[in-house]
Amino acid sequence: MPTVFLKPDKDARITAGYLWIFSGEIARLEGKPEDGGIVDIRTLRGKWLGRGFINPASSLAVRALTTQPEPIDDAFWRRRIGSAVTYRQRFVHGTTAYRLIYSEGDFLPGLIVDRYGEVLVLQTLALGMDRRKEMLADLLMDLVHPQAIYERNDATVRRLEGLDPRRGWLRGTADPVIEIQEPARFSVDVAAGQKTGFYLDQRENRTALAPYVRDAEVLDVFCYTGGFAVHAALAGARRVTGIDSSADALHLARANAALNGVDSVCEFVEANAFDELRRLVTEKASYDVVILDPPPFAPTKEAVERASAGYKELNLRALKLLRPGGILLTCSCSYHVGDALLQQIVGAAAADARRAVRLIESRGQARDHPVHPAMPETRYLSCLVVEVG
Ligand code: SAH
Repeated sequence: MPTVFLKPDKDARITAGYLWIFSGEIARLEGKPEDGGIVDIRTLRGKWLGRGFINPASSLAVRALTTQPEPIDDAFWRRRIGSAVTYRQRFVHGTTAYRLIYSEGDFLPGLIVDRYGEVLVLQTLALGMDRRKEMLADLLMDLVHPQAIYERNDATVRRLEGLDPRRGWLRGTADPVIEIQEPARFSVDVAAGQKTGFYLDQRENRTALAPYVRDAEVLDVFCYTGGFAVHAALAGARRVTGIDSSADALHLARANAALNGVDSVCEFVEANAFDELRRLVTEKASYDVVILDPPPFAPTKEAVERASAGYKELNLRALKLLRPGGILLTCSCSYHVGDALLQQIVGAAAADARRAVRLIESRGQARDHPVHPAMPETRYLSCLVVEVG
């Protein structure tokens, strides 16, 4: 078996359960592994730590698959996928759409599989997974029996692995626009939508909003296809306004409001959120509930400072729009801007706006995106619910 030997002191993290080995942590490579092939992982002195797959072209050189002395064979993949399926059967209920396989959170680094009704959408974000795509598709057909599997491999992170973008049906075919129920109904476009079509990670936060919106006027900023907006309307909001810069997303948002019979309560505005919030503040508009769910502003650690300024500006404007007693549901999906920093940003924005705020709930991603405790990167979504005095 080809083997990577780690530099001294670089083994502790792997022993503690971390799954990534960066090229700079490797002292030497013995043998000639295939690209994406399996390697043993050892300390410099030769103590066996585990095995994983290698991509010599990526700075994330090895992703560990196991620390048990088990072969990485068909039975291994079947066990891992089977256990991801069982986890959802145990813990994810009341929705026809959910993340079936969450990469490191399911001990399957670089593999994402989302379920939308009878269709699975697959992403292979690591070379080792990409090379095994056909085998994985066969196993998914066998274990989950979907009508079809769509490959949604156009994520930019694939470039870091030297992988080209690709999308299309991998097994079977279906209408790419799929109606799901979570339990609100949504049309999801798995071929053209953002991510794999829907922000499944926010599902539980959308339902958590319900107790705050009865008779409320709600502003859903970065509304995409209306996830929060439709849920708010169904939970009794008097009026809901969604803002997004994507015309395609808003087209579906309007259709989704109609699908749930709340189109008379919802309106959707195509605009840059920063400009529109500034305009609303100038107009002295006011709301009972504001939702902020921006795209990730800090994809890297280096971007945190600029990102924080962006988050602060949004939160400041949102606070200015909220009536006394109002609720701000504010999110960050940048791992580098987590709960603590987001809380600090909201606090600073509140001080600037001279508003007293209190944190009611601190939430994360839905349970179909389980967090690997030794890999903080797997906990990337923060969602704070704040009362504004
Ligand atoms: N809340 C949504 C997900 C939001 S994802 C849900 O639950 O489904 C972030 C959204 O921000 C995307 O729909 C994207 O189109 C939009 N977006 C990105 N930059 C924007 C900007 N400057 N102004 C308005 N919308 C923006």
